[in-house]
Amino acid sequence: MNGLMLQKRLLISSLIVHADRHHGDTEIVSRRVEGDIHRYTFRDCHRRSRQMANALTRLGVKASDRIGTLAWNGYRHMELYYGISGMGAVMHTINPRLHVDQIAYIIDHAEDQYLFFDLTFLPLVKAIAGRCKTVKAFIAMTDLAHMPRDTDIVNLLCYEDLLERSSAAYEWPNFDEDTACTLCYTSGTTGNPKGVLYSHRSALLHTYAAALPDALNCSACDVILPVVPMFHVNAWGIPYIACMVGAKLVFPGPGLDGGSLYELIESERVTFSAGVPTVWQGLLTHLEQAGLKFSTMKRTVIGGAACPSTMLRKFQDEYGVEVLHAWGMTELSPLGTVGAMKARHLAMNPEERCAVQSKQGRAVFGVDMKIVGADGKELPWDGLTSGELMVRGPWVVRNYFRNEGGNPLRIDAETHGWFPTGDVATIDADGFMQITDRSKDVIKSGGEWISSIEIENIAVAHPAIASAACIAAKHRKWDERPLLLAVKRPEAQVTAEQLLAFFEGKIAKWWTPDAVVFVDAVPLGATGKVLKNQLRDAFQDYLLRS
Ligand code: AMP
Repeated sequence: MNGLMLQKRLLISSLIVHADRHHGDTEIVSRRVEGDIHRYTFRDCHRRSRQMANALTRLGVKASDRIGTLAWNGYRHMELYYGISGMGAVMHTINPRLHVDQIAYIIDHAEDQYLFFDLTFLPLVKAIAGRCKTVKAFIAMTDLAHMPRDTDIVNLLCYEDLLERSSAAYEWPNFDEDTACTLCYTSGTTGNPKGVLYSHRSALLHTYAAALPDALNCSACDVILPVVPMFHVNAWGIPYIACMVGAKLVFPGPGLDGGSLYELIESERVTFSAGVPTVWQGLLTHLEQAGLKFSTMKRTVIGGAACPSTMLRKFQDEYGVEVLHAWGMTELSPLGTVGAMKARHLAMNPEERCAVQSKQGRAVFGVDMKIVGADGKELPWDGLTSGELMVRGPWVVRNYFRNEGGNPLRIDAETHGWFPTGDVATIDADGFMQITDRSKDVIKSGGEWISSIEIENIAVAHPAIASAACIAAKHRKWDERPLLLAVKRPEAQVTAEQLLAFFEGKIAKWWTPDAVVFVDAVPLGATGKVLKNQLRDAFQDYLLRS
């Protein structure tokens, strides 16, 4: 027997309709590429999204066509989120930090019909325009007054001009909720990036789950600053969450340095923010140097890479900002786990609580996870045994776009239907998952695994160390041993021996790195993760040489 409830499809357009109708005068504030601060409301955003849908229709865009964007976090990008997906086309956000060849590759692979871009990316667009065979026109996200002159890009259009000539009278179409809404490519640290194609249904379910109190805990009383870019897994869903709950949005545009972020946080009374550890490091350094405090900021979600416990403690103990450590992937839309406390953790002292919070957290409802051994058999949740992390759920990838790389799901009997994340993790009895490594980054010393993340966390807790990366270096006796590459803080003094002594008592003796190499910087990829493959190429023979 079927239930007798109304059928309402889960569509992206319903989010902006809701935000307009129930939170119409809530603000969206953006730092623009043009340099000024722009502010308007959800009602304005909805009106301009409808104008954009009409403009795209006039340009001949049809359902399922892919439309690319190379843009910062800002109100025009938000209008594209709703205008493109809302009309049934596919929003393809492109990470401008990828290598230019990879960008040209994914535009071609996605068969983007139009490419919207912020003026910052004009040089990039010039470099790739001739290679983008499927792109009918490039649309500069600005007004006529700021349009680039003297460019040889053929088919250059102006965003504001398009909108001005388009009516706001538009009825969002009603279609199957399994229709694709957004396309994001993985960062492609190994091989070419692969496309993950989200559906309206998967995005809406992810939005409900991500907004929950034990996830990102967002409400109409929040002012949210997504520092995580809208080209990195939909800014972790925040442009959707804000519409669902009616929270004010503050977009930082290209201003991601500590000073610009702090200014926005204070002037717009931001309560909640989200970003990768490297960005927060910049903000914390700015606060320290200028002797500043937050007046309204209450919570921040840190993810994309492991949040060092020193950063966690600094935010909480010195600045009164609660840290939510989260784990996710492009393949998971992205949210998988959040380190929200359970009732019994609340009575813990700050030290013990920090140890729990430093883990990547518990699965949000909708995501199921397990760890498995090499034989595919599930391993115990004892917080000690580590294995490959597998996930499944309605917002987990089933297949990459255009079947690139074949079926990503395991097909053996034990792990059938689970997505292998490539992360290695433990899970404790409370269900808190802790990433110890990427499977390709684990250090296997004498057959036993050593967690590079734990070693890096300890290294950056040393006052003289700004950042660190631990890699597997070849070893004659143990096959591999940990080698620590460390970047000193400006003007700080520390020797390799002093740094190694700092590990004493903090980890098992045999986990202590064999050597330390001080470097000027560690290479970072397009989404703020350390490129360990580059470091391995350069240093994997270091211990054989010494
Ligand atoms: P991406 O698809 O670019 O978001 O990258 C996903 C990968 O980032 C995951 O598979 C993890 O290896 C890593 N990652 C994400 N969040 C965390 C975290 N909180 N701690 C450690 N690694 C993380």
